[in-house]
Amino acid sequence: MTDHRAAIETMGVTKVYGTGSAQVTAVNEVSVQIYGGQFTCVMGPSGSGKSTLLHLIAGLDSATSGEVVVAGETITEMDDKTLSHFRRDHIGFVFQAFNLLPTMTAEQNILLPTKMAGGKVDRQWFNDLTGALGLSDRLSHRPYEMSGGQQQRVAVARALLNRPAVLIADEPTGNLDTKASAEVLGLLRDAVRNLGQTVVMVTHDDEAAAYGDRIIEMQDGRIIADSALKGA
Ligand code: ADP
Repeated sequence: MTDHRAAIETMGVTKVYGTGSAQVTAVNEVSVQIYGGQFTCVMGPSGSGKSTLLHLIAGLDSATSGEVVVAGETITEMDDKTLSHFRRDHIGFVFQAFNLLPTMTAEQNILLPTKMAGGKVDRQWFNDLTGALGLSDRLSHRPYEMSGGQQQRVAVARALLNRPAVLIADEPTGNLDTKASAEVLGLLRDAVRNLGQTVVMVTHDDEAAAYGDRIIEMQDGRIIADSALKGA
């Protein structure tokens, strides 16, 4: 269900890398609202600023100017320590590389960030989540004993365990075959539809973007198109 309050709002956010002749404006005065409970896809050619915008809204990169507000908090004003706590408590990440620890089981990987943060694991939610992601019978397996699709589902479970305000996904199907991609995208869409999760995903894949409620298209650091598309 769409929550028409913005889960994320950027106001003239800009990121400039380098200086002098090597200067690149990766994101150029982008102002956008991303609504809660929606699956928003960010598309555009390589180098158009998609990942940089995603990193700015996730607080993984600092803006050169402008503001970013996530879940009502202005993250561009936070110091590093406050920001890292904010990220831990409110933002989930899924990347192209699954980033699982090879010596740990699926269950240990899913629980690791919560345990490292000294948080309490909601066992019921863990069971519901891993069940919904089709991982119940894989929890004692290590990453090398799982397919790419299963590993990415573990990464999705790890990202959702904390019930983040926003799930940020950067090319999450980039290492997956067509079938596993469809599975992972379907699960992300289900998290939006059934749990009201807010998801923002960067992809260059039209088929992946078709799972989204809305597609934002970037070019040269700016948003050049923004359409509300119905999910597949
Ligand atoms: P996309 O995700 O659409 O491929 P990026 O956000 O990665 O685009 O990059 C946008 C532009 O910013 C590109 O020209 C890229 O070379 C540049 N860029 C990205 N990250 C850095 C960095 N850490 N240092 C210098 N330039 C960067």
